[in-house]
Amino acid sequence: MADVRGRLKTTVIGSFPLDYTEENMAKALTDQVQVGIDYPSPPQLLDMNLMFLEPLAKQGCGVEIRGEEAWLVGTPSPPQQPVATEDLVWSINYLRERGLLDKIDGFKVPITGPITLASVTKISQDTYAIMYEDVVMAFAEVVKKIVEFFREAGAALITIDEPTIPYALWLGLSEDTIIRVVNKALEGAGDAITSLHVCGDISGVGKLCLQINVDILSHEFRGTPKNLTEYTKSDLEKADKLIGLGCVLTKPIEVELPVESVEDIKSFIEKAADRFGAENLAIMPDCGFGSLKLYYKSQEEAQAVVRKKLENMCVAVRELRKKWGFPSD
Ligand SMILES: [Zn+2]
Repeated sequence: MADVRGRLKTTVIGSFPLDYTEENMAKALTDQVQVGIDYPSPPQLLDMNLMFLEPLAKQGCGVEIRGEEAWLVGTPSPPQQPVATEDLVWSINYLRERGLLDKIDGFKVPITGPITLASVTKISQDTYAIMYEDVVMAFAEVVKKIVEFFREAGAALITIDEPTIPYALWLGLSEDTIIRVVNKALEGAGDAITSLHVCGDISGVGKLCLQINVDILSHEFRGTPKNLTEYTKSDLEKADKLIGLGCVLTKPIEVELPVESVEDIKSFIEKAADRFGAENLAIMPDCGFGSLKLYYKSQEEAQAVVRKKLENMCVAVRELRKKWGFPSD
């Protein structure tokens, strides 16, 4: 974690508003590198659940895909072969061939967590795997193995995406189980930097997140500012964690999606720094940008908005590093 504390490092959540083509992969990756994201993500242009569940089904790991649905057909079992690492391998090669690999600190990869995968996997027409603690735990062993494959493929920052945690608590999954399951999944990360992304309203979830064995807690703060009150500086320091500060909107407010100005992003980061300590922040958008795909007339227009948001975010960060005397890269 020495790499990221007190550096105000930048990353993204992972999805972009583009169809899954090689041309679009190149576009979304190049945009991240050109604006100066420290830990870009291989552009996540596929469904965050099916992109893992489909290859797991192909390897006979206890799930089957019927239409667009995942069904449990046995106890989930860890894959023997890498799952969904192709885009990371492609992205590393793409930058290497262009001499751009040293422009970044490393690749961040988003991996859908066991609770979220279980929440979309059906056992019957109205029953999902998330309702069974032993099945969720089996998914944790599956994700641990996936994480290991990503680490071996060269991921430097590994994020477990678990937007379903608040729902899991509501369903009655215990805090202990959630902590155990996410910790298990993260065991595969080795010496990579680790993060947990839970978006939306995280009221009441902070205490649980602080107990998870992870370096960075990544949340939506810009769109849900009350999330700022979920942690204090001393909470973070006691638990040895950074906040992954979502600081630009990824969802329109009513009908508008403003592109935040550099000044505006700076003042939001400064406000968070007052609360959490500037040295305890990593900087990112609120969530992925994938849902903007249907919001603009064209994907090109949507991606142009995304690029501008990321560019302003990176400019704001460079100015604040200078102001706070942090290293400039
Ligand atoms: Zn999110």
